[in-house]
Amino acid sequence: MNDPDDLHELTGLYALGALRGEEHARFEAHLEVCERCRAEVRSFSPVVESLSRAGAVVEPPLALRARVVPGGGNRAVVRDLRPSPTLAWLAAAASVVLTIGVGWYAAQLHARIDDLEARLAAANFRAGAAERQTADARQAADRAQDMLGVLSAPDMARVDLKGQGAAAAAAGRAFWSRSRGLVFTATNLPALPAGKVYQLWVVTPTAPVSAGLLHPDDQGRVTTVAQTDPAISPVAMAVTLEPEGGVPSPTGDKYLIGMVAP
Ligand SMILES: [Zn+2]
Repeated sequence: MNDPDDLHELTGLYALGALRGEEHARFEAHLEVCERCRAEVRSFSPVVESLSRAGAVVEPPLALRARVVPGGGNRAVVRDLRPSPTLAWLAAAASVVLTIGVGWYAAQLHARIDDLEARLAAANFRAGAAERQTADARQAADRAQDMLGVLSAPDMARVDLKGQGAAAAAAGRAFWSRSRGLVFTATNLPALPAGKVYQLWVVTPTAPVSAGLLHPDDQGRVTTVAQTDPAISPVAMAVTLEPEGGVPSPTGDKYLIGMVAP
């Protein structure tokens, strides 16, 4: 009576242990040759497990099969059965099984979507991180190039800076090239108070000119590269403690000072 298409639809009943006798044997024979049904039977196992964990008694007889399996020769079974309390109970049990099955598939689908969304987010994050790393690497390379340019400049002059007052243990060194700019490095700078920043100055005979802000690491070390106006002739370099964001001309205590050799 069952053609192969009907057999394909018995996976749920088989998984629930609802197949009997010849039908059970035929379906098991079918399972041997049908990967699709084997996969479906496996997919039902979480439902069956949750049913048995919940203590549900799953003993679905023939009538359940009639409710669960639509179409085909199964309609004959429905017709053969008279309405009875037992049948009503079985119908209810069948709809519970179907609901759990559908709920389980919905849960699977949600899990799958969650998984895909998580993968997408991870991929986006990786792409963003890669872009940032590339940008950071380019910036570091540009900076190294600038430093090398200054350090290898034929007109490079070295200026040593001494720690002052609260920063007596600090030391600084500037490499200045009129044509290529300034490389500055310092060690042992005191930790910055909140709302403050170190500012580097190129001091000319007329006025100090800002060469940028310094944010030392937690060991008081900092290195920076700055462009300087080739027209200026520094007589000294200095580092002062200034309000965050920096100032147009120095207002705070001097932490490092060094004279440029004439
Ligand atoms: Zn099959």
